[in-house]
Amino acid sequence: MIEIKTNNRVEILDITDIVREEVRKSGIKDGIAVVYTRHTTTAIIINEDELGLKRDIEIMLEKLIPRNAEYLHNRIDDNADSHLRSILLGNSVVIPISDGKLDLGTWQRIMFVELDGPRRRRIVVKTIPC
Ligand code: ZN
Repeated sequence: MIEIKTNNRVEILDITDIVREEVRKSGIKDGIAVVYTRHTTTAIIINEDELGLKRDIEIMLEKLIPRNAEYLHNRIDDNADSHLRSILLGNSVVIPISDGKLDLGTWQRIMFVELDGPRRRRIVVKTIPC
């Protein structure tokens, strides 16, 4: 279990190095790594860690699921947009492990997406030999 602290309501954090370290500690040569977030208002994605693109993702989320639209969930909470954005992006990724290393493409990074921060969050990394 990895604990991270986020600093904004919406934030995209590169967690590739943290996952790499978990894979290294596992000692697995060939298998898969599952990276999973235990929360209903966060997501895990694989993409390029580029400032403009990260801003584009935030703009896309605001267009598709606006913060201040009318939501039924907001009658009991104030974060329906965060839940819906989390559903859209997904709560886990699977990455092959080859030769003891994460088999990521040149520009691929594993990123944690905070959608209702700032908060302390927990990420689960499971490595499975296969
Ligand atoms: Zn809620």
